[in-house]
Amino acid sequence: MAKYVYDFTEGNRNLKDLLGGKGANLAEMTNLGLPVPPGFTITTEACRHYLAEGAAPDGLDQEVEEHLRALEETMGKRLGQADDPLLVSVRSGAKFSMPGMMETVLNIGLNDDSVHGLAKQAGGNERFAWDSYRRLIQMFGKTVLGIEGDLFEDALDALKDGRQDTDLDAGELQHLVESYKRIVREQTGSDFPADPREQMRMAVMAVFDSWNAPRAVLYRRQERIPADLGTAVNVCSMVFGNCGGDSGTGVAFTRDPGSGRQGIYGDYLQNAQGEDVVAGIRNTMPLQELERIDKRSYDELLSIMETLENHYRDLCDIEFTIERGKLWMLQTRVGKRTAGAAFRIATQLVDQGLITMDEAVTRVTGDQLARLMFPRFDADAGKRRIAKGMNASPGAAVGKAVFSSERATELAAAGEDVILVRRETNPDDLAGMIAARGILTSRGGKTSHAAVVARGMGKTCVCGAEELDVDTAGGTFTAPGGVVVNEGDVISIDGTSGEIYLGEVPVVASAVVEYFEGAEPEDDLVRAVDRIMRHADATRRLGVRANADTPEDAARAVRFGAEGIGLCRTEHMFLGDRRQLVEDLVLAGTAEERQAALDALEPLQKSDFIGIFQAMDGRPVTIRLIDPPLHEFLPDIVELSVKAATGEVTDKDRALLAAVKRLHEQNPMLGLRGVRLGLVIPGLFAMQVRAIAQAAKEVPGARPEIMIPLIAAVQELEYVREEAVAILAETGVDALVGTMVETPRAALTAGQIAEAAEFFSFGTNDLTQMAWGFSRDDVEAAFFSRYLELGVFGVSPFETLDREGVGRLVAIATEEGRATRPDLKIGICGEHGGDPDSVHFCHDTGLDYVSCSPFRIPVARLEAGRAALSDTDSDTR
Ligand code: ADP
Ligand code: MG
Ligand code: MG
Repeated sequence: MAKYVYDFTEGNRNLKDLLGGKGANLAEMTNLGLPVPPGFTITTEACRHYLAEGAAPDGLDQEVEEHLRALEETMGKRLGQADDPLLVSVRSGAKFSMPGMMETVLNIGLNDDSVHGLAKQAGGNERFAWDSYRRLIQMFGKTVLGIEGDLFEDALDALKDGRQDTDLDAGELQHLVESYKRIVREQTGSDFPADPREQMRMAVMAVFDSWNAPRAVLYRRQERIPADLGTAVNVCSMVFGNCGGDSGTGVAFTRDPGSGRQGIYGDYLQNAQGEDVVAGIRNTMPLQELERIDKRSYDELLSIMETLENHYRDLCDIEFTIERGKLWMLQTRVGKRTAGAAFRIATQLVDQGLITMDEAVTRVTGDQLARLMFPRFDADAGKRRIAKGMNASPGAAVGKAVFSSERATELAAAGEDVILVRRETNPDDLAGMIAARGILTSRGGKTSHAAVVARGMGKTCVCGAEELDVDTAGGTFTAPGGVVVNEGDVISIDGTSGEIYLGEVPVVASAVVEYFEGAEPEDDLVRAVDRIMRHADATRRLGVRANADTPEDAARAVRFGAEGIGLCRTEHMFLGDRRQLVEDLVLAGTAEERQAALDALEPLQKSDFIGIFQAMDGRPVTIRLIDPPLHEFLPDIVELSVKAATGEVTDKDRALLAAVKRLHEQNPMLGLRGVRLGLVIPGLFAMQVRAIAQAAKEVPGARPEIMIPLIAAVQELEYVREEAVAILAETGVDALVGTMVETPRAALTAGQIAEAAEFFSFGTNDLTQMAWGFSRDDVEAAFFSRYLELGVFGVSPFETLDREGVGRLVAIATEEGRATRPDLKIGICGEHGGDPDSVHFCHDTGLDYVSCSPFRIPVARLEAGRAALSDTDSDTR
């Protein structure tokens, strides 16, 4: 028969799935011999059963009763017994910490009789007993009976009448209990349940139910915690911090979660119970002051904190209570920390001999590293905060407020820093977003267009600042308190906190970026990053390459640790002055005219490649032949039509308009692009291959890899490949010829395609678009936030590779491609290449490398190291 209840002496910290984090750690502390009030845990399995079937599993009641009896035996008191009551708390506690999301009820077992017994236990302290009783009705009423909490709060406030809760005397608290009981009667039509066992049973069910409370559901979705884990329920004998000045309750960290430094970090509140210390009902005191109040408990607490750190080998946070000079431990867990502290603590623990370097690498994340790479506002500078929005994309940006994409590009072109302020952005604002230092919107959440695009670009963004009244037409916004900001006024936005400031706040560059750029590691944070990065590099199996199109990007990528270029796009080589040549190519009426246009482009392309090969200094460079549809390089159809209508046109304009009309597509993403261009426009790909080969000849050690985009059938590839191989042979240059795998058909026929390809590179942006049937530019703004809300996916498939669908295509193509050609080199070059989860997927699937934008390279290196280590250590959350 299933066992649904574990005494604290039976569990341990490895049983988080079954006992929840809180229960598992209470058991662990109990077994360490620390002072934990005795109790037991009802398993998550019982909760899952209850949630699925609508009723507790058979036998649970009896098992709980047996454990309660044993607890009563240990404590020498019966639950709620009139003259000498045992009281308990009933506490939620899931596998993953969900702070404040679910319910806990304290002081179970009190009623009109046992309240007197409790007073007697405390040496006749009536005040304490009635305070505990009113707290029970308040918590029970709110969480178990579902009564609006404000009703109790208001009654308490009315009674306090400006005094503190500790000023209320026994008589007043007794009076409050009567008011509370009346509220319960009025709101539920029944009396507050006086039977202690009934109280406990109802509280347990309420904790089960709290798993599905709306805020818990929302929190899980945000944090990507599975919805079907359920919560455990801890029944714990009460200890009392509200017995007077020699009692109290507190929270503490074993080291500073902000900086990682060792020391005493915590808060303490005298004569208080439970959440009082975090709820801010009275001012807490720094934990150090406990030394003065109760030196013995303080010393014991410090020694327990040391025991816990050595045992958990990590920063722990704890909850404790002192009851009349006796210290009790009520909770511990490995504590959350800032990004900087994570790196510092990991290396400190290595130096203390508590963990290995392998473990240190698993103790930090790529997201934390990325956070350390954003520039930040100088903490010491004076600031004038005017509003707060959502912290959509981290970083610190300062600039003049502008209210349209056009103004943003204009002023930026004139060398000004600007912040683009909009109610919300749409794809038309893209140019302005690129030109701006930061983006501020008054509407939309973290998945709004502004937020998604800004994160993609690594640009600072604060979104959904609803306190702001934005008038884009008038070029002004108003912040609370009547602060008016006009176009051209300087503002500062902090994408890490969501804070908005008037005027210029000084920015300091991230020391971590300076280190990656080649500076010597000087402060202790950078030294910690340096050590962990070195170890991650030594451990990882995945290669890391960069997506880079220019010699400058390539050089930075190398400084950041790239081992090659995984994606060099060639389309930018057709922009600017060269548009003219593209127009000539499109308008060419004869083969001679077309060849002339191509001949003019070739030397320009060649010089581009030379710069990149030089920057990469012998590392491989994967060059993708031209991918986007040609009309992207031609003038806008509307502009041309207007020109034609007003009659100021040349012959060339007329021809261009005709060409643009001819090339206009309903769905350009699925139109004449990629390899299709190569097959339809004779000589285009050949020109590019020749330029690559000529450039390679001039740069000793150059290692070009030629990549064909948008292949769906091996026949397409064979045709282009043949031509490319011939040109390479002619010039005597060695280069691999391979393909993007970015259409589902290519993935599904990878076995055939590998016959003609020497490498694969998964273009997971297009592959995701086509696998889901999503046009990225359209869906993200239109309905992704709704999809995330509905839980269709927990995270956008454009952000983190969708393992089940797109990932399956990748896995099939990898396996079948290698079956044909065992030495097939396989990488990924979508934006997923720099996303931590996706890097782990690429490791698990056996890819050779990931390729990502230069700024993501350190993140990819670190995550690749962590992926290699997570084969042994899977619990990294
Ligand atoms: P949360 O998960 O929100 O922290 P807890 O179950 O830890 O909820 O309980 C809420 C508060 O009540 C905490 O401050 C905790 O220390 C306190 N508490 C819980 N059980 C007891 C107990 N048996 N005796 C005294 N205080 C308790
Ligand atoms: Mg707690
Ligand atoms: Mg593509």
